[in-house]
Amino acid sequence: MKPIRIVVVGGGFAAVQFAKTLRRKLPASESEILLFNGENHLVFHPLLADVAGASINADAAAAPLRQMLPGVDCRTERVQRIDLRSSEIEFDDGAGALSRMHYDHVVIACGAESNLGIIPGMTDHAFGFKVMRDAFDLRQHIVHQMEHAEAATDSERRRRHLSFIIVGAGFSGVELAGEINELVRSSSRFYRSFRREDVVVTVVHSQAQILPEVAPTLREFARKKMEKAGITILLNSRAVAATHDGVELDNGRMLKGGTIACTIGTAPSAMVQALDVPKERGRIRTTADMRIEGQANAWAIGDCAYIVNAFDNKPSPTTAQFAERQGRQAALNLVRVLNGAPTRPFRFKALGQLCSIGGYQAVAELFGMRASGFLAWFLWRGVYLFKLPTWSRRIKVALDWFWDLLFPRDLSFLNTDATRYLNHAYFRAGDFIHRQGEVARVFSVIEEGEVEILQASEETTEPKIIAVLGKGDFFGEGALLGSRPHETTVRARTPVRLRQVGSALFSETAAVFPAFRELLDNAVIRRSGDLWRRLSLGRSILDREPLASLIEPLPTEMLRESSTVADAIRVLGETPSGELLILDEEQRLWGTLDRSDLFQIVARIALTPTNEQEVLIQEKLGEFFQGNPLSVALNDSTAVAFATMLARGITWLPVVQSGDDPRLIGTVRGERIANCVAQKIARMDANSARATS
Ligand SMILES: Cc1cc2nc3c(=O)[nH]c(=O)nc-3n(C[C@H](O)[C@H](O)[C@H](O)COP(=O)(O)OP(=O)(O)OC[C@H]3O[C@@H](n4cnc5c(N)ncnc54)[C@H](O)[C@@H]3O)c2cc1C
Repeated sequence: MKPIRIVVVGGGFAAVQFAKTLRRKLPASESEILLFNGENHLVFHPLLADVAGASINADAAAAPLRQMLPGVDCRTERVQRIDLRSSEIEFDDGAGALSRMHYDHVVIACGAESNLGIIPGMTDHAFGFKVMRDAFDLRQHIVHQMEHAEAATDSERRRRHLSFIIVGAGFSGVELAGEINELVRSSSRFYRSFRREDVVVTVVHSQAQILPEVAPTLREFARKKMEKAGITILLNSRAVAATHDGVELDNGRMLKGGTIACTIGTAPSAMVQALDVPKERGRIRTTADMRIEGQANAWAIGDCAYIVNAFDNKPSPTTAQFAERQGRQAALNLVRVLNGAPTRPFRFKALGQLCSIGGYQAVAELFGMRASGFLAWFLWRGVYLFKLPTWSRRIKVALDWFWDLLFPRDLSFLNTDATRYLNHAYFRAGDFIHRQGEVARVFSVIEEGEVEILQASEETTEPKIIAVLGKGDFFGEGALLGSRPHETTVRARTPVRLRQVGSALFSETAAVFPAFRELLDNAVIRRSGDLWRRLSLGRSILDREPLASLIEPLPTEMLRESSTVADAIRVLGETPSGELLILDEEQRLWGTLDRSDLFQIVARIALTPTNEQEVLIQEKLGEFFQGNPLSVALNDSTAVAFATMLARGITWLPVVQSGDDPRLIGTVRGERIANCVAQKIARMDANSARATS
């Protein structure tokens, strides 16, 4: 008889326990068990904080699946899709092609993913805390911060490097805060320029209490101990944004810090999202025996599943304790199904909770008994040592912990080249992105929002706004190409999201792509400070000329956000300037359109099959390009408007009421500004000629 095939998707607590139990119960001659997990190891999440805090090495918290699961075929391909109708999985075969595989039973145990996107800027500036890479990178970063603090020449910068912010005070947030606090404070004795009192560790928590899952007395104990160890806990405080400088809270306060670790926010994986099955808050709903509702041969367990516990009729919490039990009981149920026996509902009485809070202290609730302090900490270590999946891991972790008791924590770090990165950055309105005179480190492209370029000169100590840049514009190229400090300051005018490229990667790209280099060189020439120096007379005229005097009224024909391509073709044909403004429903500026934009849209439509073209001509403009155009505000100087046009290589700009009020006032044209300067210079020449004659 052909062996039945059971495919397990995932390799965490639930999947491993499932595969282990099933392998024990089913002879290998009758069943083939395949386990697909993105990594070739199980991550022991409860010890991730210890990895981040350098009290154990990363490999001690990762157990190789292949060695843990003899008799199970462990694969590292990622499953892309599950076709429940045809009982097939689709996975990336590692060589760029998709392979399909039939199964008799599938078990989905792919956990959940961290979702930092719930708070603006978190993805760009915070460390997640879910996978081994997060903990490892965080540890590297913390040690790096201490090195930076040692080298910092001003106290403000040193404080930034020594300030650590942890978002969320559930189990992982509390354990992480304890570990970071311990690592940095205990290591301060190896540095000369800071002391343990200079270290600032802050936990931000949106609720009135930390550790909501444990008893109030233990919670209170944990809070007091943590505060005594120097950790600041901000309760009832919600993080609303993260930037390069720190975390903004819902009360408007800006918490400054060079390290942000976010322990909140999870989301189902893309594969689970794509599954067309009943779900509860993104988790797969199962029947009592853990089969997916409406499916006879598909099961879901662990964090990705919504399983009601028959013990208390409540949904199972997303913990390793529950995931393991679900794995074991689901395997036994599958064996019952294969034997034609009735299945049993998932039933489990939680054993308790353990949480380490740093400084050899913990809180514990086990089998109804409560403990706190050193004893609880000892218990915590003992339980997790015992829970580690293999003897080799147990011995490794025990040795690391023993080492940690006798010797200081390891402060070595692998120096990765900080000039080769490509990442995102988020800034709030008013934040400085870089300042004049600073060393150039990155090239930035604006993905969203606007920035203003400021320059201080010998005449003016206060830097003046000299131009505005918007979506698609870039900056930083002049200083990087010329290997000189920044000649201007760049400040966010609205909330801004940037794509940033490290200096070495930027230089290599510029050297390899001649077209990119040419684009940059042209921008450098257009934006050069020399231009203003050479045109200093024009500049002083424009600085004095109110923008209002040059604004042209709004055209009579304007497009709406809902206008179609056909509308645009018609209206543009009747507009001599060839430039159109597009308004949103509230009469605010939504976009601009000129002949070359329209030509690109028409060219795209021309490339589609003939029978689709008529439909596309009637599509809204918004389907073809995004709004949010660059504009200047009424209170900007004419010099700013002119420099903005020069910097972007454009000939006109919309003018809005102010930075906060995007109501349209009119437009301003480069030609009119140039005329104004020419007339004023001619008048000045005539006056001086009259004076000399
Ligand atoms: C920092 C931290 C500390 C924690 N501490 C505790 C604790 O002290 N006690 C406790 O009980 N719980 C703790 N938890 C919660 C616990 O870790 C989770 O509840 C548990 O890991 C869930 O197990 P799982 O098997 O459902 O998923 P996971 O353990 O997350 O495993 C899922 C696996 O599936 C893989 N995968 C995902 N999609 C695919 C795909 N398409 N193809 C192939 N593989 C895929 C992933 O790579 C991952 O390896 C902690 C969690 C974190 C993040």
